[in-house]
Amino acid sequence: MTPRRSTRQVRVGDERTGVVLIGGGKPAIDGTPTTPAPVAVQTMTAGYTYDVDRCVAEINKLAAGGADIVRVAVPQRKDTEALKEILNQTRVPIVADVHFHFQRALEAIEAGVHKIRLNPGNINDRDQVNSVIDACKERGLPIRIGVNEGSIIERKDKQRRMTELGKFFSERKQGHLLALMVVKLEEYLDIFHEREFFDVVISAKLMDAASVIEVYREISERFDYPLHLGVTHAGPRETGAIRSIAALSALLAEGIGDTLRISYANDPIFEVEDGLELLYSLDLRERKGIDLIACPTCGRIQVDLFTLVQNVREKLCDEITVPMKVAVMGCVVNGPGEAEGADVAVFAGDRRGIIYVQGERVANVTEEEILDRLLKECRDFQSRVLGGKAKLGEKRVEIVPPDPIGELGSGFEKIASGDVEKTSTVTIGRT
Ligand code: SF4
Repeated sequence: MTPRRSTRQVRVGDERTGVVLIGGGKPAIDGTPTTPAPVAVQTMTAGYTYDVDRCVAEINKLAAGGADIVRVAVPQRKDTEALKEILNQTRVPIVADVHFHFQRALEAIEAGVHKIRLNPGNINDRDQVNSVIDACKERGLPIRIGVNEGSIIERKDKQRRMTELGKFFSERKQGHLLALMVVKLEEYLDIFHEREFFDVVISAKLMDAASVIEVYREISERFDYPLHLGVTHAGPRETGAIRSIAALSALLAEGIGDTLRISYANDPIFEVEDGLELLYSLDLRERKGIDLIACPTCGRIQVDLFTLVQNVREKLCDEITVPMKVAVMGCVVNGPGEAEGADVAVFAGDRRGIIYVQGERVANVTEEEILDRLLKECRDFQSRVLGGKAKLGEKRVEIVPPDPIGELGSGFEKIASGDVEKTSTVTIGRT
């Protein structure tokens, strides 16, 4: 992992919501030193902002799920009118997403939002952009300048489109979309710099993962503003997750990126969950809750491990708040190794499971009893950690794999001899 790139630092939020820092490492304007803040996870509500109760419920659900910042669309006057009440009832920094109508930005600022997302390219009049910049400056609010491949090229005014593209390509031998995005960002930043406004986060999103990597590498070299990462229009979670993680993990491993949104055509809570999991996996955020390890199963499996893993995850994700490592393994081949590194572990055999807590065997139970016993051990272990009686990640005892023909009914020798009967309760495939 490359150390995080140094940027200016942006503050989002207030006393009521708490302040989320984005980026850092370069001194603040007043000379105060800053250090890079943890990468922040953002998402955007999917419902109508003017529908106050639903919007508040959605924001609170996303915040409870771990979102650091939540963005809302404000296309209509009734959306900005709803903001005051929404802000009253929520405790997470809110960003107003503005397109086309500068007036919506001014109304959102007046209502008390914590940040504005603006695409100066779709606000026709420079004075209108300037009025938004000045209003944010007056209130100390940051602005994200976002360029997006879907809106980077002028679409309404054909003449303007031809002029822009013609100007761009005539000046460059090998012009393409990425270069156009960088040039546009430069143009937009000039508008902000003219008004001595530097409280800026920038983003340049495309739907192609390789292009996202390329454009962010370029802008991270050119600008020292914090970067908001994202793959736009990534699609449904099933494919969008791969598209997003491919791009974002490559950039984050290079030290690029200060905040991110994974965007899916799905419930935004998944964007939050997957964004956090990405950061946990790269060790860029301190994990909250269980770190679940599970084997993919194979022809040796003799319990219904898929159901067991899902049950463990669902039942513990709200209850366990300490970063406890829990391993759910299918057999003695890799079970002991993974169990040894876990705080709580089970590895299964022939319709049985042996449960360990920090290497110490605590139970050998039937398949029907595994879930309840494992959950109990996880809860008890958390209580001991919180009470200062146990420490996470401590390896107290080396696991000695149980042999074989005894306890688990299908140990190494039985597996080696091929004498393993598959259980009829195993369900393979999607449930
Ligand atoms: S732990 Fe056992 S059941 Fe699970 S994948 Fe490995 S060999 Fe197969």
